[in-house]
Formats: sequence, structure tokens, C-alpha cells
Amino acid sequence: MTIETRPMPPVRERDARFWQALRAGEFVGEACGQCGAVRYPTALRCPTCRSAQAELRALSGRGEIVSACRFHRPYFAEFADALPYTVIVVRLEEGPLLYANLVDEPHALPAPGERVRAVLDPLGEHAALVRFERVNA
Ligand SMILES: [Zn+2]
Repeated sequence: MTIETRPMPPVRERDARFWQALRAGEFVGEACGQCGAVRYPTALRCPTCRSAQAELRALSGRGEIVSACRFHRPYFAEFADALPYTVIVVRLEEGPLLYANLVDEPHALPAPGERVRAVLDPLGEHAALVRFERVNA
């Protein structure tokens, strides 16, 4: 699977600015205007305090691998030709958890605790794909 054939995320009016920022290479999340909790991706309400107030906030892109799993079965038809591939769970320094892949290492199985940094690639005209690369400590 190439990046051009990946499924596109839904880009809605309420999160168009979020996707535009990512598409422009700015790694952003949403910060709650009430309690300050940072989330990724955007949401209508804060999962911590339920406030609807939020603003985009630049994220460091730095994080740590929490878990990794290699997929051998085609649970998603769009990814069948990429098997086997690894899905990682990354905890960003700002708090949110992301499911993603490693850039250039689709079959690697990294250990929990490894440091990573985000890499953004344009995905179509209105979105971006966030993946991670390992960082040597
Ligand atoms: Zn909140």
C-alpha cells in the first residue's frame, strides 16, 4: 500500500482547520478551553470536563511507544496488500495516545518505552498522515 492509496479521513467543517494545519506540516492537537487537556484528534467536547471550548495547539511531535502489534490478518480490506504490518500506540508528551505506523519500518516491532517523533505526510488535498520515526536516545 502506498500513501496515495490509504483511506481518507472524513474532513468536516468543524475540523477543517485542524486538517489544514496538518496538511501544511504543523502537528497540532486541540486544547480544552476550560481544563487545558490536550486531545488528538479533534472532538466536539472535552473527554475530561465535557466543555465545548477548544483551540488548536501546536504539539511537540515527541512521544514514547506504549505498545506495538504486528497485523498478519486482513482486518481492514484497504490494508490487505500491506500485510504483515505493525501498528504502534504512541503517548505524546502532551498526553494524547495515537495509533500509527513507523515510517520506513512497516515490519519492525519496537519495544515499549522507545522514543519517537512525528512525521507528517500530505494525504490527498485536505489531510495528512501522521506516522512516527524512532529517535536514538
Ligand atoms: Zn476540558
